[in-house]
Amino acid sequence: MTCSMCGDRAEKYFPAKHLEHFFHCQNCGGYFNAETSYPKYEETYFAERAAPAFLGSAIGKIFLIFPFLYALKIKKLISKNSWILDYGCGGGKMVSYLRKRGFCVDGFDPSPSAVFLAQKNNLPVYGAIPDKKYGLITFWHSLEHTNQPLRDFEACKKYLAKNAKVLIAIPNGDSIEAAIARSRWFCYDWPYHRVHFTPESLSMMLRRAGFRVVSIDYFNPGYSIPSLAQTFLNFFMPKNALYSLVANRRAEEGGTKLILLGILSVFLIVLFSPLLAVVFFISILLKRPGTIILIAELV
Ligand SMILES: [Zn+2]
Repeated sequence: MTCSMCGDRAEKYFPAKHLEHFFHCQNCGGYFNAETSYPKYEETYFAERAAPAFLGSAIGKIFLIFPFLYALKIKKLISKNSWILDYGCGGGKMVSYLRKRGFCVDGFDPSPSAVFLAQKNNLPVYGAIPDKKYGLITFWHSLEHTNQPLRDFEACKKYLAKNAKVLIAIPNGDSIEAAIARSRWFCYDWPYHRVHFTPESLSMMLRRAGFRVVSIDYFNPGYSIPSLAQTFLNFFMPKNALYSLVANRRAEEGGTKLILLGILSVFLIVLFSPLLAVVFFISILLKRPGTIILIAELV
């Protein structure tokens, strides 16, 4: 069997202790699965057809600060007029956000329903990568959705300009959250998440693909705080209810029930916020937060 993250071959891989369905690679430390199939990505995976509930969209507005900060981060990574590709962009929210702020950006997503949704909103999102040279490719929580990250990542190289960079935001399979919460971990998300990187396994994959790691950002509140809060709630309540309400995606409960669950979720988060804050900062100190952002450049 071969590790799909670092390419290491071993006679036997051992099942991951805390992540069901995954094997642990002794070479890179990453967690991969041995399946070749994929779950079906329905349109509701990306966006519910109904309008978002008021409570959900009100909470969501708090998080608008993060795309703003990501846009600032991106600006520092590219030269003027260089093109950006958002790889695995889903319905194209980040594509839309960046285009409105004057960036030259395309989106790619292998899921036909994502491309359909995005094109309905007149966004340049495609089911195949446009034949261009990009100055930056971003992977906002998309690389964990493939069974073959090394292969798919290497396939992107021909679309990169000289000295181009990549930005990869991913869940951290070695996070404190993952170790404690296991299948309740918000980012566990089997069967949609097909691999779980660690900072080391992602760095190794990038070096193998011919990249130099520029930085690893462990302080990443835009993803890590919602992940920690939802993981905490998953111990007491239906899985990922608050996330479904705020993101208006993948709702398993009906409208009124979901809103009541949302109100209870907010109450619990406020009540336990001192505890959550302590866990958040300890996880950063130990370099084991729920998510990381890594930047690398083509050598
Ligand atoms: Zn490996």
